[in-house]
Formats: sequence, C-alpha cells, structure tokens
Amino acid sequence: MSDERLFPGPSPVQADTLNAWRELFESKHSADFAQLKGTDCLEQPIFPFEVNYRDIDQNDLLSLYFNEMPVSTIELANEVLRTMVAEYEVSDIRCILRPVSLPPERTKSISALRMRNRGTIVSCVVRIKDVGPRLGYLQEALYVCAKCDHRETVKQRIARERKRPEGPCKECFNKAMVDFEGKIPYSYYERLRNSMKLTAEGSFYKDIQYLSVSDIDDSSSQPIWVIIDDEFVDEFDVGDTVRINGIVQIDPVPDRNFMKDTRRILQIHAFSVEPL
Ligand SMILES: [Zn+2]
Repeated sequence: MSDERLFPGPSPVQADTLNAWRELFESKHSADFAQLKGTDCLEQPIFPFEVNYRDIDQNDLLSLYFNEMPVSTIELANEVLRTMVAEYEVSDIRCILRPVSLPPERTKSISALRMRNRGTIVSCVVRIKDVGPRLGYLQEALYVCAKCDHRETVKQRIARERKRPEGPCKECFNKAMVDFEGKIPYSYYERLRNSMKLTAEGSFYKDIQYLSVSDIDDSSSQPIWVIIDDEFVDEFDVGDTVRINGIVQIDPVPDRNFMKDTRRILQIHAFSVEPL
C-alpha cells in the first residue's frame, strides 16, 4: 500500500489557499517574523499574528474562501504559520492568525443577528456582561492502535461529543484484508475497531472562555455567548467594551430550550478581539 493513501496531500483548493497565505505572509509580514526571532517562547508561547482584513480581501482567492469557509481557511493559515515558524527557526512559538480591522460593512449589532447569519463573519462592538471560567478543550485527540502502534489524530469541536477515528486501525485492517483474503470475520473487525485508544500524550488541549456580551447602546437587549481562545483568555473583565470579530455559529449546548427565541442559540466564535 502506498503512503499516499495514508497521508492524503492537500486538495487543489487547499493547496491554492496555503500558497496564497504564504505569499501574503511573505510579502507583508517579514517584520513579524523578524520580531519572532527575538521572542522567548517560554515567556510568550503564543504570538498573535495580526493580519489586516483588507490584505485578505484584496486577494481574490483568500477573499472568496475566507468569507465562504472562514473556519477551515483560518486553519490553513495557521498551518502555513506553523511551517514558516519552523523554517525561520523561531523554535516552539505558536502563531495564530488574528484578522483585524474588518470593514464597516461587516459591523453588526448583536440584536440584529439572526439564524441566517450563521457561518458569516461579523464585527460587533459589545459590552461584556459576564466572563466564564477558563476551560481546557480537547482540540486534537491522538489515538494509538493497541495492536500495532498506528497513530491517528482526530480534530474535535467545542462542546460536542468526542470523535473517535472512523472505522478500525487502517494498518491492522489492511493486514487483515490480506490475511483473511478480503473476508474479515465480524468479531475480528469489531476487535480492530476497539483497538484505537485515546492517549493523553500527543492530544492537544486549547484554552477557551465564554463571554456573555450585549450591544453597548441597548441595556435591555439579550446577551449572547462569545467564545474566545488562547491569548485572549482571562484578558477581559465585566464592563469592558471591545470589538469582537468572528464567525456566527449555533450554540451546540443541547439542554437549552430556546423554542421561543431562536436568536439566543446563536453564538460568535471570535477570531480576534480588539479592545476599544
Ligand atoms: Zn493497528
């Protein structure tokens, strides 16, 4: 079996996006990489890589994918940053893309958000009403096969049931296909399915925090939850006024009943916060 099946390369769309991010970072952010070289990553493990939204919007390809599929497009940017940090030999610092200075047409009030806005990028000036505790959330779970040590990383989502690898260990499955000449007994298949075990070492946790926010000019408006992560956690207090830039999502917490007020199950996953 070839390596290509185990480690699929990026799709054409992904490859184009990766290249476009790299071009943007190389052309506009050499100063950031120079600054990174002098940063002690023990003191500062995370480097917020601030990119002007206008620079993203001026690139046709990035503008399209960033607005259409913001979550995966930001993930690809972080992947490029990870590679570039390694190339620049800046050691272990983790760069995170933080798009800032969104254009006025992205500005929305919290009370104007509706279900149809889900998946879209918004910029909201808000007052913080409540600050939740710092939470560790499992972002990437590493599973290892108990039979052959094959490793598989499974990306996880906030406030959802933990996802396991799909199907059994691929190495053991392929071996069994050969051994049983294509007809794996069901009981054997079930044992293979359960051979992938979650390991703490190699799994990746991320800090997140929920902020309850509302419009600043309307004290009676319903607050919504904003999720912030990494360097923004524990940076804000009740009463602060900030600009939240992020993606409108549906709150996945299942035991809330908002039958009569669908707006309240919306939340914003912030990709940057600008103090005002
Ligand atoms: Zn295995």
